[in-house]
Amino acid sequence: MTATFPIHELRVFSYAAAIAGGLLLWILEGLAPRFSKQGHRGRHARLNLSMAGINLLILVPSGMLMAATLEWSQGIWPGIGVLRLPPWAEGILIILLIDLWMYLWHRINHEWDFLWRFHAVHHSDATLDVTTSWRFHYIEILISELLRLPLFMLMGAGIEHLLLYSLFMTPVIEFHHSNVAIPPALDRLVRIVVPSPMMHRLHHSRIRSEHDANYGSMLSVWDRLFGSFLAREELDGLRIGLDHESDADRQRLPALLLRPFRA
Ligand SMILES: [Zn+2]
Ligand SMILES: [Zn+2]
Repeated sequence: MTATFPIHELRVFSYAAAIAGGLLLWILEGLAPRFSKQGHRGRHARLNLSMAGINLLILVPSGMLMAATLEWSQGIWPGIGVLRLPPWAEGILIILLIDLWMYLWHRINHEWDFLWRFHAVHHSDATLDVTTSWRFHYIEILISELLRLPLFMLMGAGIEHLLLYSLFMTPVIEFHHSNVAIPPALDRLVRIVVPSPMMHRLHHSRIRSEHDANYGSMLSVWDRLFGSFLAREELDGLRIGLDHESDADRQRLPALLLRPFRA
């Protein structure tokens, strides 16, 4: 597999796509915002990127552990390798399975109160922009990383599949959190394949029946397949965030880090 997928290049491309995608969307949001009442963009970005910085302290070592463990496990357990598919077909199947897992993981974060405590930090953002795509509580990241490892081992995934997945998934997540003004017709077209900005915006509604929908990360097909797809064309009056949680005094780094541990 390593001869088919150049791991070093994949790593560079996936980091470059995440950074370039984030910067490009940040610039476009500034030039042509879809919603104008966004508050102080710099302060908002500083808070969200501070959380992202803390998460990197988990993601960097866990990525190294993941790479070493998957290389070892592929040698003793083939996973879907038993199907003897061509590498490209195996790659597509594994990427679909990873995205399906991301859908399920996101959904249980909403359905299990314990996990919602941490995921609520992502939802407490009162305004959405590209930096919200990096705003997660570190415990959510830690649990996610711990669960992914055995699942990916079971699938027979290699680090090359994860890098290929993140090459596509990260820019999509940045895009559907972004506040870039795109024509409504284009948004409807986009959501046939991936969650569009308006589709994910509804996922950040304060109304529970609206935020318990549209869980997709890279593909929107899972929401359609499992009955969680929700669309509302007029989102101008939509209130983003969570009641009380999104108040200004809660939108500080220490308060957000401690939020899941409050009674
Ligand atoms: Zn969510
Ligand atoms: Zn989100």
